[in-house]
Amino acid sequence: MKAVCWYGADDLRVEQVPEPRVVNPRDAIVRVSSAAICGSDLHMFDGYAPGMGKGDILGHEVIGEVVQVGEGLTGIRPGDRVVAAFAIACGRCAYCQQGLFSLCDNSNPNAALAEQAFGHSPAGMLGYTHLTGGYAGGQAEYVRIPYADVGLLKVPGNLRDEQLLPLADVLPTGYQAAEQCNIQPGDTVAVWGCGPVGQMAIKSAYLLGAERVISIDRLPERLAMAREQGGAETIHFEQTDVLDALKEMTAGRGPDACIEAVGMEATGGTLDALIDRAKQAVRMETGRPHALRQAIMACRKGGTISLPGVYVGMIDMVPMGAAFNKGLTFRMGQTNVQKYWHGLLERIVSGELDASYLFTHHIPLDNALDAYRMFRDKREGVVKIILKPRAAAVGSEQRPSHELAMENLRSTPSQAEGERATVEEDLRQRGLSAEGAQMRTAEMSPPEGDMEGPELPSQAEGDRDTVDDDLAEKGAGI
Ligand code: NAD
Ligand code: ZN
Repeated sequence: MKAVCWYGADDLRVEQVPEPRVVNPRDAIVRVSSAAICGSDLHMFDGYAPGMGKGDILGHEVIGEVVQVGEGLTGIRPGDRVVAAFAIACGRCAYCQQGLFSLCDNSNPNAALAEQAFGHSPAGMLGYTHLTGGYAGGQAEYVRIPYADVGLLKVPGNLRDEQLLPLADVLPTGYQAAEQCNIQPGDTVAVWGCGPVGQMAIKSAYLLGAERVISIDRLPERLAMAREQGGAETIHFEQTDVLDALKEMTAGRGPDACIEAVGMEATGGTLDALIDRAKQAVRMETGRPHALRQAIMACRKGGTISLPGVYVGMIDMVPMGAAFNKGLTFRMGQTNVQKYWHGLLERIVSGELDASYLFTHHIPLDNALDAYRMFRDKREGVVKIILKPRAAAVGSEQRPSHELAMENLRSTPSQAEGERATVEEDLRQRGLSAEGAQMRTAEMSPPEGDMEGPELPSQAEGDRDTVDDDLAEKGAGI
């Protein structure tokens, strides 16, 4: 079959690979009709996600038809039309039982690697790095879905792929981001990033009762979508000072909750953003948290920072002092897709919710490299792209399941392939292993010496200038 295979930064190849097969009793094989490209795929395409192996199949947003099932599956049958969740979850461990599917204890066969980087392992993820299992993804003609009774949602036949595919990721992700804000009547929510995740966060914030949503980006077509489809007010971050504008729009208080839907590849023209870019290039920092810094500074006292934007490792100069002294609450994480998708499907079926406007481009799977470049560079007004595998595009010849080839090494998790050494080396180089993190901390510690600052006058003495200078010197000014 054809699949989009990762070979390095800016290097994807559409290759012929063996078709996936049922490996475990709860597996299902899905014939993909549409697969979307996600902002998370860009972290791999841009070479910032650790633990990738050459030939890995990308893609975690998939809709299609079940063609084969393992003998342990109940409720999922060949012929079912399904959406797959990007987070792979067993449904039975303590985390899954609490609805924390993206923290499943059983679905990451490379948990030991993830523990080196994160202390504990999150769930396995479809089409993602070997840190989360190295599962073959769904930008392909077929994909294997493990624990398919938990990982697949049956969807009705009378709706279009574009209406249902957002359930795989961006719709639950935007919804979780908004739900984490604990929105109260009258609240103002600010959303950084008007990509698909930001757009869904805007919609969800209103669904959950926000009075105002203010969204921030620099791409005119995305800001227009946020206004027209989402009903948000907008700020163009290159034309306006975001912190000043948010203060002005909220009578000085700041937004009650700030959703950061940008993540580790934020752009910006300020000094901190330029320093991030340089540090990320030489791997002294794994992400560029410019939008996160802004969100923390903007948020009202006692407010909430909700982070759907992805981070993978170490970030610098996060204004922890602001977060601490304003008593902010932080919520974040990969989305618990399966917790939200039943309720969201009901809203789609009833006509209350239709996110199909996100999909601005349909591109044949064969042209995946061009599609990724267009999405990365945000050219041609792109917001979200659907890739069409040719078999699905011509739409006719479904092959009987017994014809599916019986060996696909790429669809088994990487541990079987013995790539552990390479992945560990990659983690070390990025300062992400326990040992690497220690080395990195040593490199970055300030030189020995007198760390005392000048004595601070109290405000009562009216010496604000001195205080301002001192804050600026310590890099704590805005
Ligand atoms: P995207 O690349 O389409 O959108 C990102 C947007 O952020 C772009 O429109 C860009 O112009 C904007 N942006 C960049 N710098 C900014 C800044 N300083 N201020 C405001 N906006 C800025 O990506 P997407 O698909 O919408 O995904 C967004 C983030 O969400 C990514 O980090 C992605 O990995 C993450 N994500 C997380 C989950 C999860 O489970 N938590 C799921 C899906 C995606
Ligand atoms: Zn995604």
